[in-house]
Amino acid sequence: MKALRYHSVGAAPEVVEVPDPTPGPGQILLKVAAAGACHSDLSLMSRPAAALAYPLPLTLGHEGVGTIEELGSGVGAFRVGEAVAVYGPWGCGRCRPCLRGEENYCVRAESLGIRPPGFGSPGTMAEYMIIDSSRHLVRLGDLDPVSAVSLTDAGLTPYHAIKRSLPKLNPGATAVVIGSGGLGHVAIQLLRALTAARVVALDICEDKLALARTVGAHEVFRSEAGMLKKVMELTDGHGAEAVFDFVGVQSTVETAGALVALDGDVMIVGMGGGVLPVGFRKPKYGVRVTAPYWGSRGELIEVLDLARAGLVRVHTETFPLEQAPRAYERLGAGHIDGRAVVLPH
Ligand code: NAD
Ligand code: ZN
Ligand code: ZN
Repeated sequence: MKALRYHSVGAAPEVVEVPDPTPGPGQILLKVAAAGACHSDLSLMSRPAAALAYPLPLTLGHEGVGTIEELGSGVGAFRVGEAVAVYGPWGCGRCRPCLRGEENYCVRAESLGIRPPGFGSPGTMAEYMIIDSSRHLVRLGDLDPVSAVSLTDAGLTPYHAIKRSLPKLNPGATAVVIGSGGLGHVAIQLLRALTAARVVALDICEDKLALARTVGAHEVFRSEAGMLKKVMELTDGHGAEAVFDFVGVQSTVETAGALVALDGDVMIVGMGGGVLPVGFRKPKYGVRVTAPYWGSRGELIEVLDLARAGLVRVHTETFPLEQAPRAYERLGAGHIDGRAVVLPH
């Protein structure tokens, strides 16, 4: 079969022929219908060899949907031909967070060497892939695979972050979204669907601000000199009850710290490596700063339900598998509006 592989540090990924996988006991063979390209894949490919935690070559992709092609022995939860979405943050299945369905916070995955698809295990950018357990699939039903695939990360990750801040996002509150890309443009829709808060989007790129408006942001601003003052004025000088940073570089976490209101939340979702110091009165009294990771299986089911209700729609640009390297090139250059989705068949 064909797969998109990252084969050596610093080199562009390539579509290559690899052996057809077969499911062992308890495993499932998925025929991949669609796979999303995330900025985290670019971060992975920009790391030096010493900072790369996985062996190469690696089949990329951690957003996936498809149909069940074959069931390994002992798998009873699904039937062949059923449409499913991959729950990507694979954990051990036995620790307390895993038993709650929060495998994104598995306490044993690292020590046991359990790795999500595309981050150590063979990923979704292939004609077929192995799912290690039926715990890592949820039913897709009649959702369109192309529109739904990125809900597994670009939907689930902001959903998880926003749910943590919901008690602060009452009517009259303000939520700021920094970075209106793959995750950010879904975050705006989730905030509109789940809260009555005013949604303010920030980006460095005009196209992304236009997308932010299209998907429901009340106000949009270019991240440039003078922006902080404008956003503070909007909130009568109080700041935002929640700031979601989908970039996470030093300048944006500092922006988040400057814009958050007293007793507000800063959620650093982007993996830009920025650090926001927390101490007495820093950034302000009562502010909670967290860096959430992905989401729970239950939250994925909820995000898919929001899509079924027509309340969230991922903007996509599609590529055949042969063109997947180009999808990443365009993502890296900031030329994808919404999410790049690769179609392996
Ligand atoms: P993306 O490239 O689709 O979107 C990034 C957006 O940020 C773009 O619109 C870009 O123009 C904008 N941007 C860049 N620099 C900016 C700045 N200084 N100020 C304002 N806007 C700026 O990326 P994505 O796939 O949406 O991923 C976003 C981030 O989230 C990445 O760092 C990714 O690694 C991370 N991520 C984290 C998790 C998690 O679990 N925490 C999950 C998925 C992705
Ligand atoms: Zn991702
Ligand atoms: Zn676990």
